[in-house]
Amino acid sequence: QTYPASNIAPPQVSRKQLMGYVGFANLPNQVHRRSVRKGFQFTVMVVGESGLGKSTLVNTLFATPLYPAKELPPPSAEPAKTVSIESISADIEESDVRLRLTVVDTPGFGDYVNNDSSWKPILDNIEARFDAYLDQENRVNRSKMVDNRVHACLYFIQPTGHTLKPIDIEFMRRLHTRVNLIPIIAKADTMTDEEVTQFKARVLADIRYHNIQIFQAPTYEKEDEETLAENEEIASRIPFAVVGSTTIIKTPDGRTVRGRAYPWGVIEVDNEEHCDFVKLRQMLIRTNMEELREHTNLFLYENWRTDKLIAMGVEQDQSVFKEVNPAAKQAEERAMHEAKLSKMEAEMKMVFAQKVMEKEAKLKQSEEELYARHREMKDALDKQRMELEDKKRRLESGRPLTPEKSNTRKKGFLRT
Ligand code: GDP
Repeated sequence: QTYPASNIAPPQVSRKQLMGYVGFANLPNQVHRRSVRKGFQFTVMVVGESGLGKSTLVNTLFATPLYPAKELPPPSAEPAKTVSIESISADIEESDVRLRLTVVDTPGFGDYVNNDSSWKPILDNIEARFDAYLDQENRVNRSKMVDNRVHACLYFIQPTGHTLKPIDIEFMRRLHTRVNLIPIIAKADTMTDEEVTQFKARVLADIRYHNIQIFQAPTYEKEDEETLAENEEIASRIPFAVVGSTTIIKTPDGRTVRGRAYPWGVIEVDNEEHCDFVKLRQMLIRTNMEELREHTNLFLYENWRTDKLIAMGVEQDQSVFKEVNPAAKQAEERAMHEAKLSKMEAEMKMVFAQKVMEKEAKLKQSEEELYARHREMKDALDKQRMELEDKKRRLESGRPLTPEKSNTRKKGFLRT
């Protein structure tokens, strides 16, 4: 194992047998008790055209009349111009576990003549919630953090039996990196089993084609076999074809169920053979609620946070990182030292080359001076030798020694 460079030496780890009961086996129970005491926060967003059964499904899911019966606008009412965001919170309790449930509704989505930017206010709202969480993280006192981030987004697809509509694709494409998308085929009781199967295949093909990431229950972790099988079963039902109803009705065989009664029979909400409602609830609440929260925190929020901080200034972020990371700091110091050394070496080489050049120039100059002196001396010697030879010749021929005298005599001789 490698440790970051620091002054703290890594501890020596060895395996030891316990001689008796110590008590740390109770640690998971301590965590469990603390979580129960603190309670949980979960925020789910519902998106889809009005009338697709969003409020009915939420009320069915949490077995609570979270949404009061809707008052529909009169036919003369002016339609709203934009998507609005409304949230309802409720504290619910089951076997002493408290859950602060928040449902974020998006009335108006897809209800206008032009729905081009229906996704925008929803994305803004999701990011504003991330912003609020980041603000809390930056506070001095972080003991009371409120997590209002959207942990799951139930996207309601109209049961057309065709393919996804452009508005569905646009919404999912824009939002899939910011929220856990859970696609849902609304009012599945309006289609036959065969139509549901075919529609699911087309929706999945569209999702794959457009590279949209929808939330997947983990099927890779070292979970127990039962959970793995459950997750695989859940994954096979996506997109969930659901039916919502809070009405209790009596079946022909005398059972009381939540369902919808039709002249030809009863469709049961909680019957896995009738629709995927149970599987959706299992994923959203029983098996993967923590997974959804964790994925939001560790992946979606973290990515948004990185994007935001980079947009605020990379330089600052990098210097903070170096400050915090001793290995990076040491590497930077080493690089600076090496750069300094090579600069010194280059300077020394330059000085040396200059000195050599100067010396060479000096040597050349003294060589030339030497040559000049040598030539001078040689010329003088040559001259001297010539004079001596001349003298010798004259002595031998018996002529007077000084050429001046002989010249005078010559002149006199010529005059006479
Ligand atoms: P919202 O506008 O999306 O919140 O839709 P509502 O929950 O108000 O439901 C609109 C209408 O659809 C109501 O009359 C519901 O009774 C009905 N509805 C809700 N869920 C279903 C369903 O699963 N199947 C069918 N057939 N009708 C449903």
